Amino acid sequence: MRYSVFALAKHAFSGNRHWTPMWREPAPKPHYDVIIVGGGGHGLATAYYLAKEHGITNIAVLEKSYIGSGNVGRNTTIIRSNYLQEGNLPFYELSLKLWEGLEQDFNYNAMVSQRGVIDLFHSDDQRDAYARRGNSMKMHGVEAEMLDQQAVRKLLPYLDFHHARFPVMGGLLQKRGGTVRHDAVAWGFARGADRRGVDLIQHCEVTGIKRNEAGLVVGVETSRGFIGCNKLALATAGHSSVVGRMAGLELPIESHVLQAFVSEGVKPVIDHVITFGTSGHFYISQSDKGGLVFGSDIDGYSSYAQRGNLAMVEHALEEGVSLIPGLSRLRVLRAWGGVMDMTMDGSPIIDRTPIENLYLNAGWCYGGFKATPASGLCFAHLIAKNEPHHVARLLRLDRFRRGFAVNESGKGPQPNRH
Ligand SMILES: Cc1cc2nc3c(=O)[nH]c(=O)nc-3n(C[C@H](O)[C@H](O)[C@H](O)COP(=O)(O)OP(=O)(O)OC[C@H]3O[C@@H](n4cnc5c(N)ncnc54)[C@H](O)[C@@H]3O)c2cc1C
Repeated sequence: MRYSVFALAKHAFSGNRHWTPMWREPAPKPHYDVIIVGGGGHGLATAYYLAKEHGITNIAVLEKSYIGSGNVGRNTTIIRSNYLQEGNLPFYELSLKLWEGLEQDFNYNAMVSQRGVIDLFHSDDQRDAYARRGNSMKMHGVEAEMLDQQAVRKLLPYLDFHHARFPVMGGLLQKRGGTVRHDAVAWGFARGADRRGVDLIQHCEVTGIKRNEAGLVVGVETSRGFIGCNKLALATAGHSSVVGRMAGLELPIESHVLQAFVSEGVKPVIDHVITFGTSGHFYISQSDKGGLVFGSDIDGYSSYAQRGNLAMVEHALEEGVSLIPGLSRLRVLRAWGGVMDMTMDGSPIIDRTPIENLYLNAGWCYGGFKATPASGLCFAHLIAKNEPHHVARLLRLDRFRRGFAVNESGKGPQPNRH
């Protein structure tokens, strides 16, 4: 069913009783050309672009829970492409461009809102680092604007400019950055893939990866029986190392919890995405329902629990109040956690593996939501053509062994610091 104003009117007149489900619930077939493990944003986008760009439709996406139950439905919804490194910047800029046309592309309202992202700086060092970042963006044809304190004060008058431990000195603005409604992204890609013939199989956990004598993957053991495939693609985000191990891969990834928070709804007050510069780590925006959506650091220890600890709750709220004192008058309504696949350089992996027909999409740390469209497009390209998409060519699995890390924040091989 195509969504349009006419469909809306037609269904309104018939009492909204004839809307069809957004996707089918097929039983798994015995064999597929491609199996994608993980029905998160990246797995669904990969299936969508495989079908749309490469005409490969004999695909199953296997999801152990329900579509959108993972990080794609748990993040703070920020999109941007204000990166520094050659390995990341062109990739995230492609993603931002895809977001800009996405809703028309998959005929679904994902509420893409380019309200602008402002990264604040609080010291001379940070200003220089952001100037460098902004220059790198401009050299790649990406718009960026340095704001002085006065300009920030005009846009964000409610920040603490007076008594702050780290006074706001200015910011780096990317006007095209913003937010997207996260679960609509999962639903939009799922619906688009299903319409092109992809089987979305929910409640189907992959428990083993089966290989033949030649070492090639022939299929997966699942909670719904064995399913064969010609190519296997892993897109399990926080569980990448668990699933990788099923094929004997030791991945350069640690899993950590990241929490998100939503306040009670208030009238429109924050009309940008704001991030605390590197003196702290805090980011905030306002949802269309009025809740302030914010987050901070990862909890700092490895875990597969989708909930975090109280110490980090306190830390996040302290950072928020030190930046925006008025936050102290609001109540937090909801908080939750997601499991992050942290790599050793804070950058993702989209690559083939030492096993010829096994492909890997992982290492998204806490920045993978904004990457969803480009990740799907590039991973589909890799699976279909067996060669990397040019914007993802540096996101290789063996870069740590070869000494070619894409160290975006310059913090070295410690996932808890990225
Ligand atoms: C609190 C929080 C805030 C964040 N904020 C942002 C942000 O503002 N901007 C941004 O860009 N990024 C953000 N992120 C990161 C982003 O959400 C993730 O990097 C991204 O969603 C990961 O890719 P995904 O959507 O494919 O993951 P997921 O949705 O987690 O998909 C992976 C899927 O694999 C499934 N799976 C795992 N094991 C198996 C198995 N054995 N068999 C079958 N299925 C399996 C899981 O159930 C899951 O559904 C945030 C994350 C969190 C948790």
